Amino acid sequence: MQIAKAEFRCSSERISQVPKDDLRDIAFIGRSNVGKSSLINMLTGRTSLAKVSGTPGKTRLINHFRIDDKWYLVDLPGYGYARTSKRQRDDFSKIITDYVLRCEKLHFLFVLVDIRLEPQRIDLRFIEMLGENGVPFGIVFTKADKLSKSQAQRSVERFRAALAEQWEEFPPMFVSSSAKGTGRDEILAFVGECLKG
Ligand code: GDP
Repeated sequence: MQIAKAEFRCSSERISQVPKDDLRDIAFIGRSNVGKSSLINMLTGRTSLAKVSGTPGKTRLINHFRIDDKWYLVDLPGYGYARTSKRQRDDFSKIITDYVLRCEKLHFLFVLVDIRLEPQRIDLRFIEMLGENGVPFGIVFTKADKLSKSQAQRSVERFRAALAEQWEEFPPMFVSSSAKGTGRDEILAFVGECLKG
């Protein structure tokens, strides 16, 4: 699948404000700074559809981008942003849980994970919540250009091993680099298939 037209549709503060039409949502989420905006721009072939932020945690809205008048690419707020307290935030904001667990438009959710990091508790907790609630999701490892191929592979295996503690089956997984365009074709082909279903 290729994307010809990508246009900003709206930002929502709560799920009652998301578009009311029947186009389906393919959404993206992850810890702040994981590379979500860069990935969205890479997938859509735009340089600044999503704002690549210097300030992690600033975006707290649900952004809908209408793709080829057929589906919405949805940019969800980042989670896991360290608050003023020393404790890393590991609860998920109401807007995230409302959307992910209750929004009927949501068709598939990509959870982004920084390929350089050890499996993060907050990502595993978020994934566990998706599993418990039957939300269809996949994992996109980001920033693969920062590792060698074999290091990247090891990192994916390490994440699989962490998931294996809770899961019998693995979700679809993609390795990506927005800097290099890696993973674009695979992710878009998957979205294409997903929208057929
Ligand atoms: P967001 O907060 O999740 O939307 O993350 P951003 O897209 O704003 O990216 C956070 C930082 O990571 C920025 O400095 C990006 O330039 C950098 N970044 C994002 N994706 C990649 C990637 O694929 N490769 C490299 N090397 N850097 C990346």
